Amino acid sequence: MDDPVPGKKTDNGFTIVELTVVLLLMAILMLIAIASFSSSSGRASEAACLSNQRVLSTAISLYRADNDGEAPETFDDLRPYARDVDKARFCPSDGTTELILDTTCDQVTCPKHPR
Ligand SMILES: [Zn+2]
Repeated sequence: MDDPVPGKKTDNGFTIVELTVVLLLMAILMLIAIASFSSSSGRASEAACLSNQRVLSTAISLYRADNDGEAPETFDDLRPYARDVDKARFCPSDGTTELILDTTCDQVTCPKHPR
């Protein structure tokens, strides 16, 4: 009876080279999937931030209409005109960056996501 030659493929399993190649391919695919997920997550928070900016900018216009053209001084003044002002005034990407209330042009902008 013949002994199997070292490194030669036998019929009852995978060689170490085949297993290494498969694991390497799986690692590469996981890296691609993680990169894709983090990129789409960033785009989602940017879209949410732009939505918050539009809602708060509209609230400024509504505030001016109700107050004879006076500009709101703080985000607190916008509470009757927009829902969840306390949450919407912070960028959704990190939850701590406060949006900028610019009453000279009636817009709200984000330092991280400028329009
Ligand atoms: Zn933002």
